[in-house]
Amino acid sequence: MVTVPEIFGTYVFNDSVMKERLREDIYHALQKTIHDGKALDPQIADAVAEAMKDWAVERGATHYTHWFQPMTDVTAGKHDSFISPTADGHVIMEFRGKELIKGEPDASSFPSGGLRATFEARGYTAWDPTSYAFVKDGTLYIPTAFCSYNGAALDKKTPLLRSMEAISEQAVRVLRLFGHTDCRRVIASAGPEQEYFLVDKELFDRRKDLVFCGRTLFGAQPPRGQDMDDHYFGVIQPRVAAYMKELDEELWKLGVSAKTKHNEAAPAQYELAPIFSVCNIAADHNQLIMELMKTVATRHGLVCLLHEKPFDGVNGSGKHNNWSLGTDTGINLFKPGKTPAENAQFLLFLAAVIKAVDEHQDLLRISVASAGNDHRLGGGEAPPAIISIFLGDELTAILDAIVKKTQYAGHDAEKMRLGVDVLPAFPRDNTDRNRTSPFAFTGNRFEFRMLGSSASVADPNIALNTIVADALKQFADELEQAEDFTAALNALIRRTIKQHQRIIFNGDGYADEWQEEAARRGLLNLPSTVDALPYMLKEENIRLYVEHKVYNRDEIFSRHEVMLDIYRKIIKVEARTMADMARREIYPAVNAYLTELCEVAQQKQAVSSEFDCTSEREIIRRLSAANTELYIAIRKLEADLATAPATDLEAGARYDHDVILSDMQVLRRYADAMERETAENYWPLPTYGDLMFGL
Ligand code: ADP
Ligand code: MG
Repeated sequence: MVTVPEIFGTYVFNDSVMKERLREDIYHALQKTIHDGKALDPQIADAVAEAMKDWAVERGATHYTHWFQPMTDVTAGKHDSFISPTADGHVIMEFRGKELIKGEPDASSFPSGGLRATFEARGYTAWDPTSYAFVKDGTLYIPTAFCSYNGAALDKKTPLLRSMEAISEQAVRVLRLFGHTDCRRVIASAGPEQEYFLVDKELFDRRKDLVFCGRTLFGAQPPRGQDMDDHYFGVIQPRVAAYMKELDEELWKLGVSAKTKHNEAAPAQYELAPIFSVCNIAADHNQLIMELMKTVATRHGLVCLLHEKPFDGVNGSGKHNNWSLGTDTGINLFKPGKTPAENAQFLLFLAAVIKAVDEHQDLLRISVASAGNDHRLGGGEAPPAIISIFLGDELTAILDAIVKKTQYAGHDAEKMRLGVDVLPAFPRDNTDRNRTSPFAFTGNRFEFRMLGSSASVADPNIALNTIVADALKQFADELEQAEDFTAALNALIRRTIKQHQRIIFNGDGYADEWQEEAARRGLLNLPSTVDALPYMLKEENIRLYVEHKVYNRDEIFSRHEVMLDIYRKIIKVEARTMADMARREIYPAVNAYLTELCEVAQQKQAVSSEFDCTSEREIIRRLSAANTELYIAIRKLEADLATAPATDLEAGARYDHDVILSDMQVLRRYADAMERETAENYWPLPTYGDLMFGL
């Protein structure tokens, strides 16, 4: 039997492989590149490439690819073989340093949001040595950043790396003030929990909505849905267990530390969580997790749905992004300490997050905005579209006491006057099972729970890193000038918490009262992507990203355009699919059933007029009327699709949201109602019951 430690990372060109396969001086030069971003000498690059190639070929690789993350939510890469012809008609396997360091994919087919029009048509990929290369399916994967020729980012990795730099720089400044002179870097980490659904492949193939859109556009509620609350953490069915086992093993081979797996709340819904890692690696690994979830599923006759809302009426899928900051010396900055001084430092970082989240609710909301996620947020199953922070009762009481300069009665009822310099050593509040909060402090990290299941985790981490970097920068600017550090620190923490206290909310985020309360507090409530996106171009937001060198102006505008464009395309594809299914599958099916009912009634009457035909008549009347309504709704949807404004993206997206989505809702209502009345053998689509309870 092969054990997990034996297979873990066997397909990864990791540190131990590098040590083993590279000459010592080359290994050290590469380490410098990895840790300090030093450019690699071309000869050293050649040696690294050669070693990588030999190692990859031993693992069955024939090709290499520069793996990158364009501004969609998936990854891309062109595969080149290692072969190089020799004079005598043979080939050798070759891989040079320059091929490792830089690639030139045809950038023109990836979204650029106008960046290519204003700059250069070409783009290039650049090796990211901080994320290990790996072998998958006979190909050496080299994680890369993807940029236009003048250096504008065309991907999600580049700004993520920049944001990690930004927060490291500012956090180190703050730590210096607390006497941490040995710390050189602060590392932002993420642990994204990934939710997903599994459905049978045969059933999947019979539904165009699943095939084209990844979610059902029709479907009446089955007799049993999420009612029993028996799926969450329940026994995993054997077929799913076999799938999960293989998935874990594949991930482990690629060095992804898959740790937790369980049934989620909805029937046929599951979750996988890896152990957290540096943001950049976490984002790469989350992409691998999503990809392997899909490919392993097909080997088990299953399809993995990563859509945020595959089924109406049961929970959708999200991602929880656990996020924290740690020093290169191993200190977690969000861990309450044991001494008052440690706690003062903790409180300052906590204050930075509170300030950042309150001041930049819009950017956090935008970082999770997508057509798919709009179906979840605010649906009473995921956090609302309002950003707030959950801190737990104890921490909230401590902050209250600081603001009010009152006494704090701690957990052991010991009363003390609070100043940040005389903080109690409080235990971390681990009681957080408040799943309704979009942003919860969970003892040593924050859990951002608004992410959609299919999205890259890069965007929310870029936003978090940047906004907290900005708060830390303002703190450092102020404290570096202070004559009395402790007094200044005290005042700063108190002032910050007082100013931003409105963002703290420990109650039920799903409740209607919270919507009203949040409005009273002046918090933003941006229910849809089209409501949120205009905030991206606010001058203060542009200034923030530009100042921390995460995006330049053009990059922000380009991303805004790409997001709108993708939003519009998704809705268009869904609307077209819906019209097609309704017109060519549902409408004829209902008519076929109507024909049968008419024939039955007719034949009954032919035998004897005494036979009662009330039920046939009633069903015929209702279904016939509903099918006509369906037809009218199809025509309306098609007409509105045809007249959609084509020029202005923003107005177009608003139109899609207001007009097309509501047309789709109307259409669906008729179809779902008819599904409940049409004989099962006439209904052309696998039902919700089949899909969710079939495994
Ligand atoms: P739960 O479902 O209770 O929220 P899980 O165990 O499913 O918890 O997931 C918790 C995630 O948080 C894991 O990915 C874990 O590695 C991650 N995590 C733990 N500590 C930290 C930390 N300091 N920084 C970032 N992520 C963390
Ligand atoms: Mg969780």
